[in-house]
Amino acid sequence: MKMNIRQLFDLVGERRTISQRFDFREEELYGRYPFQSPVECSGEIENRAGVVRLVFCVKFSLDLVCDRCLEPFVRDEELHFAHILVQKLDSGEEDEDYVLCEGGELDLDELVRTDVLLELPSKVLCSENCKGLCPQCGQNLNFGSCKCEKKEIDPRLAVLSQLLDSEDNPADPE
Ligand SMILES: [Zn+2]
Ligand SMILES: [Zn+2]
Repeated sequence: MKMNIRQLFDLVGERRTISQRFDFREEELYGRYPFQSPVECSGEIENRAGVVRLVFCVKFSLDLVCDRCLEPFVRDEELHFAHILVQKLDSGEEDEDYVLCEGGELDLDELVRTDVLLELPSKVLCSENCKGLCPQCGQNLNFGSCKCEKKEIDPRLAVLSQLLDSEDNPADPE
């Protein structure tokens, strides 16, 4: 649905508040459809000294599956965007900050969709410290360790063992 914002281009000082809800349930991301609840968008368009600026905030939650431990989880997101709206693009303005509103019409749904999808990371982890699955038994190591022999050494211990190795180095004068 396109918004007619011609008046915002015509009148300096004109402003309009945005409060809209979008349905992104059909959007595929990470091989899933994570936008299971509505996407809330709030913001403002303002013509300040002839420059029409759009700022908005998007709030939504994503139904995701961790790439590392394969556990489903929900993540709440809040993203902020700003754009300059123009009725025609001059050369040098072909920047992602500029949004072309032909005939004074803004396709906010499309803009929010593009902004949000570009902003989301390509990989998802349930947490930065996700321990993942045991490669041998498949146990989710976030829920506790398994009985398998540990092949992977804790990175802090790895540094220590490197230090020990270098001390054993025969090239060492000692
Ligand atoms: Zn995880
Ligand atoms: Zn295991």
